[in-house]
Amino acid sequence: MGRSCEILDLKYKFGDVEQHLFPVVLFGKDEVVLVDCGYPGSLGMLEEQLRLHDIQPDALTRLVLTHQDDDHMGAAAELKKMYPAIRISASPAEAPYISGELKNLRLQQGEALQDQLPDDQKAFGEQFCDRFRRLRPVSVDETLSAGDRFDWCGGCEILETPGHTPGHISIRALDNAYMITGDAAVIEENRLALANPEFCLDRRAAQSSLERIVQFHCGQYICYHGGIWKR
Ligand SMILES: [Zn+2]
Repeated sequence: MGRSCEILDLKYKFGDVEQHLFPVVLFGKDEVVLVDCGYPGSLGMLEEQLRLHDIQPDALTRLVLTHQDDDHMGAAAELKKMYPAIRISASPAEAPYISGELKNLRLQQGEALQDQLPDDQKAFGEQFCDRFRRLRPVSVDETLSAGDRFDWCGGCEILETPGHTPGHISIRALDNAYMITGDAAVIEENRLALANPEFCLDRRAAQSSLERIVQFHCGQYICYHGGIWKR
């Protein structure tokens, strides 16, 4: 895809466990668009990755957030503060959670589960909730809905792919050369699969979103967790 799309690689260490996240940069005629931005505190790593791909961070015009989880929107507030010209976009259903108008759904889910957790997992549950309580909200400048089309990366459209969260969106190339799946699909054992089905806010919807994604038979699927999947 050359210059029309770049895949960043954010690397995190949690104890002995290494985690990689793959935000994508899409180029349009007048836009440089980052899709998702990593955990809170990722600004420095993002800038480094952008420069590694010959992209000046201040060239970014827009940040698209696929949904409200902290590994996707975590660095949005710090990015916006450093580069105020960046416009933040998300679906209308995710926007109030991203902007902090409503309590993050993952935090609500975590708090609701806390009472049911066995004693030896309560500390982990509490840490999980704290992560989301510290998540810095950011206001959404423009909402994106199903069928919205852009010239990014040779032409693409917004797909609604609910389930993981209610307003999750993905981005599909109009010629099906690629799909950016966010967390609507991850790579597991060389297959496209549901991300953490136990965390899906609506598992049935997530399953049907995954089926729709697969049915497009895109040349490649760019998964935030897992990277590039080709059939
Ligand atoms: Zn994720």
